Amino acid sequence: MNKDIATPARTKEILEKHGFSFKKSLGQNFLIDPNILRNIVSHADLTDRTGVIEVGPGIGALTEHLARSAKKVVAFEIDQRLLPVLEDTLSPYNNVEIINQDVLEADLNGIVEEQFSGFDDIVVVANLPYYVTTPIIMKFLLGKVPIRAMVIMMQKEVADRITASPSTKAYGSLSIAVQYYMDAEVSMIVPKTVFIPQPNVESAVLKLTKKAEPPVEVIDEDFLFKVARGSFVQRRKTLLNNLQSSLQNGKAKKEQILQAFERIGMDPGRRGETLSIEEFGKLANALYADFK
Ligand code: SAM
Repeated sequence: MNKDIATPARTKEILEKHGFSFKKSLGQNFLIDPNILRNIVSHADLTDRTGVIEVGPGIGALTEHLARSAKKVVAFEIDQRLLPVLEDTLSPYNNVEIINQDVLEADLNGIVEEQFSGFDDIVVVANLPYYVTTPIIMKFLLGKVPIRAMVIMMQKEVADRITASPSTKAYGSLSIAVQYYMDAEVSMIVPKTVFIPQPNVESAVLKLTKKAEPPVEVIDEDFLFKVARGSFVQRRKTLLNNLQSSLQNGKAKKEQILQAFERIGMDPGRRGETLSIEEFGKLANALYADFK
């Protein structure tokens, strides 16, 4: 087996050889601990028939571990300066494709069709650039990219929000949007010391697994998320007040909102943070005809 990229000594050697300097604005915090990498990969349950999508390979620390366990890895890297580095570090692997593109601009379903046709399953595995964690996750989920799971490193605070249960401080529209599609659990908490440079925040690896069925049947998913977002605009306010100011740009009629609550027997004086996804689904369906 090849020598790991992610040891502190080898990483330093690679960075020096290529004269690479980190760009903070691209969320460049590279992993320098092979144990953490092995641990991340073990949570992805890869087989030699799995296709992996990686976001932000950096110098290839995680990519090579994925290439050893999966059939093929397709990795999106926005920073052009890393292309010659990756060509060098990943030269022993013939099952890796690097795409020099902002993942947020990518045609993910097109790539999946082109690169992974006939594969058993597709998993996203990444040490994400933290400044775009949520847009990246939502692009995969809202775009209905046919993935089995995501195993992704992010800021711990975001992982806490995604996995939060009702009636906790961290619970909000992000918890609802992600948990509508995926089961979410924190796989491990990761200290700052395993990165170079060290980030300012604590990190966590989150595992998201696609649900067989959404937890509630809704008329319109976008409208469910709109109602959820609107219900948390001011956390201390009641659902009625929040929805009145968020639906139809604040022009929603109070009476009509109250009628929707009455139809489903829900108290409009509750706060958004107390509602389960199932209850948000019911509420969104009741509001849909008048406020879509
Ligand atoms: N995977 C490497 C590791 O674990 O050492 C690097 C992870 S680093 C946290 C994030 C990587 O994402 C960087 O290489 C950065 O250049 C890249 N990146 C940042 N924004 C991106 C975007 N919008 N699309 C694709 N890659 C991006």
